[in-house]
Amino acid sequence: MQTYDMYIGGEWVPPASGTYLDSIDPYTGKAWARIARGNAKDADRAVEAAHKAFSEGPWSKLTASQRGALLRKLGDLLAANARRLAEIEVRDNGKLMAEMFAQASYIPQWYYYFGGLADKIQGAVIPIDKPGVLNYTRREPLGVVVGITPWNSPLLLATNKIAPALAAGCTLVMKPSEYTSASLLEFAKLVEEAGFPPGVFNVVTGLGAEIGERLTTHPRVAKIAFTGGELGGKAVYQSAARNLKKVSLELGGKSPNIVFDDANLNNAVNGAISGIFAASGQTCIAGSRLLVQETIYDEFMEKLLALARTAQMGDPSRSDTQVGPVTTKAQYDKILGYIAIAKAEGATCVLGGKAANRGGWFVEPTIFTGVTNDMRIAQEEVFGPVLSVIKFKDEDEAVAIANDVLYGLAAGVWTQSIARAINVSDRLQAGVIWVNTYRSVSYSSPVNGHKMSGIGAENGIEAIDEYLQTKSIWINT
Ligand code: NAD
Repeated sequence: MQTYDMYIGGEWVPPASGTYLDSIDPYTGKAWARIARGNAKDADRAVEAAHKAFSEGPWSKLTASQRGALLRKLGDLLAANARRLAEIEVRDNGKLMAEMFAQASYIPQWYYYFGGLADKIQGAVIPIDKPGVLNYTRREPLGVVVGITPWNSPLLLATNKIAPALAAGCTLVMKPSEYTSASLLEFAKLVEEAGFPPGVFNVVTGLGAEIGERLTTHPRVAKIAFTGGELGGKAVYQSAARNLKKVSLELGGKSPNIVFDDANLNNAVNGAISGIFAASGQTCIAGSRLLVQETIYDEFMEKLLALARTAQMGDPSRSDTQVGPVTTKAQYDKILGYIAIAKAEGATCVLGGKAANRGGWFVEPTIFTGVTNDMRIAQEEVFGPVLSVIKFKDEDEAVAIANDVLYGLAAGVWTQSIARAINVSDRLQAGVIWVNTYRSVSYSSPVNGHKMSGIGAENGIEAIDEYLQTKSIWINT
């Protein structure tokens, strides 16, 4: 079995605890690798390495274009290793090979894009209403950044932080999910091969509860960039506040996917299915609340169910599989718990509604109708293949239902009216709105969680601002 140590200061380091955690393949339910169980001592070591690289090392003396060149080189290495990295992620989190390979093949673009931005970070000369005064600004890297990431798209979500942080000139300590650490450790080998100086990029592994506290309070850490669930996000925010660290949070969602009666119904059905069942529903942007206009409700549901019934569950590495297992036993139990809650609340289960007996952690694609927006199944993030369908009368009611949640990550709108597309998009409270599509992402387009879905931006030019601070310099000539 493969054993992974941690990558700290350019070296492979065993955990101070001397112990390792099993990494489980969710398709078989069996361990396939061992991951170092890091603790506060490892966190200290990694932060010191990152601090040294930031304050002393060759990294801080590189020009911005040299940093950009290193990022682009890393992009090339990631492209050459995309299949291998995708295979590791399928093993670790059970997502479909087709999906993970597409993701791994797209990830290099983040390094090309942010590598290209590295030498375009610039300040300004500010006009001042006093004679003989020159005032100008510099945009400087924050320093040591701690990146904490979840298990659902391990390398992509880490990349959302790594590429802009390195482009800005920061150094990093990454803490991947304890369930899916292997791909980021393999990634570290490519960082080394690309020629990044030791200490610029570090990976510590282990349980959030054991290593997270030190990482989020360490005096030498300037910023915490976190992606994960509401509970983890609140814990990190509170602990970072103790030493007044800058924080960005990418959290959960309960995104509405709204189908109006003038939509192309076949496209909307496909969008609704991929919106919720891709990655077995384990995506922050899952369209987990499907809002359907009452005039087309029966016709739409017939088409939706006909397609949903054909979903092939099975081995995620096979190309004909459409729904794989869920990633962890805890998540499997949580999803089944929500299905029981929905039934108890009076929602009608019209598809699935139970575990599938296939060896690993499988939950059948599940659809509930008769859902009202005050039910827990409509308000809380399930993070599984469970769709709640809600009927609405008109545009006003659709927008009211869509916005009546604490989250505001994403939303889908299906209509052929351009006026309606624009009006509804303006009124929806969400960071990303997709019209006649769902789930599109790009390195160049910003994602900002509204409401309880987050704080700060990822992707796009504004993501680099998350890792920079402005200095204003006054010169009396
Ligand atoms: P999680 O919050 O349980 O864990 C995320 C990471 O935080 C893990 O690395 C974990 O070890 C660490 N962690 C947990 N407690 C910590 C603490 N007290 N201190 C420091 N670190 C701690 O989330 P998860 O279950 O791994 O991921 C699923 C969640 O992530 C879902 O809610 C999903 O919506 C969210 N997510 C959000 C986005 C986004 O971009 N908005 C993307 C993907 C996933």
